Amino acid sequence: MTDKLNDAHQARYSRQILFHEIGERGQGRLLASRVTLVGCGALGTVLANTLVRAGVGFVRICDRDFIERNNLQRQVLFDEDDIAANLPKAEAAARKLRRINSGVTVEGVVTDVNHTNIERLAEGAHLLLDGTDNFETRYLINDLAVATGRPWIYGAVIGATGMCMPIIPGETACLRCVFDEPPPPELTPTCDTAGVIGPAVNIVASFQAQEAIKILTGRSDALIRGLMNLDIWTGRNTIVNVQPGFEKGDCPCCKRKRFDYLDGSAGSRATSLCGRDAVQIDPRRDGGRTNFEAVAAKLRGIATGEVLQNAFMVRCTVGEYDITVFADGRAIIKGTADVETARTVYAKYVGA
Ligand SMILES: [Zn+2]
Repeated sequence: MTDKLNDAHQARYSRQILFHEIGERGQGRLLASRVTLVGCGALGTVLANTLVRAGVGFVRICDRDFIERNNLQRQVLFDEDDIAANLPKAEAAARKLRRINSGVTVEGVVTDVNHTNIERLAEGAHLLLDGTDNFETRYLINDLAVATGRPWIYGAVIGATGMCMPIIPGETACLRCVFDEPPPPELTPTCDTAGVIGPAVNIVASFQAQEAIKILTGRSDALIRGLMNLDIWTGRNTIVNVQPGFEKGDCPCCKRKRFDYLDGSAGSRATSLCGRDAVQIDPRRDGGRTNFEAVAAKLRGIATGEVLQNAFMVRCTVGEYDITVFADGRAIIKGTADVETARTVYAKYVGA
């Protein structure tokens, strides 16, 4: 990594360079850094916005979803035009970020990150970032991070509260040292059941971004060690020391080197989405390939009302269900939280 900055870099990042903990050396390191962000919703948009503005040289943004009107309250990279254009989140975010900073590379990938593709999506990344809303994908990130010895930053937010933890494999506790198994979904509040406020999102994601910047600038010595618990409403914030769980524990992931999520033995192909009355179906992991044009033509024949189509997705309403099919073959069926019902709808209207 080079510490030499050109004049354009000096001018653009001058205020950050003046901050002595970063300096020219840290800025040079940021520009040479590559990160992969998994999930570009509330936390993800704030993370991507902060890191692209800071000059992280390569940011790959992976997200499986489209934008809904209720996202705009907190997902800072999206606007009403993106919804009108039916843009998936990863594409809308990448377009906006390129307008913010043309001097770095931003890549948007519309995909469901899973055990079949995470290694490729994280290839070359110095750091992985958690912008997800579910434990399954976080455990997958954790598995890959530990298996390949790369740091990642866990983040979660709900209501006015949130958590953040930087994870350096082999040095700090990993996610499974702290949470051994995912909590049952019925006991887990989600943004769609408990709500979430913008300030909590911004603060949690900003802590994640700050820890990311420390790692990328070579200042891991300054990391906040432990699990941050933030309550934005009351202002009561704590840092839980989770290190004894790492040092004395018997973590299935970082101690026993069992990567249940990365090897595919845990995890599912149909996923009920974060309590929002929708299910994602991912047929590709069954080995099949989807002909996007054929699916679009089929839906045009059965849709109730208009069928919207662009290069990224086709969407329509069929009876009580809103169906969105992405170019990679995945579908999100809205109108049910029941996986079997969604599978049936998919098989009936989209294709088995
Ligand atoms: Zn562990």
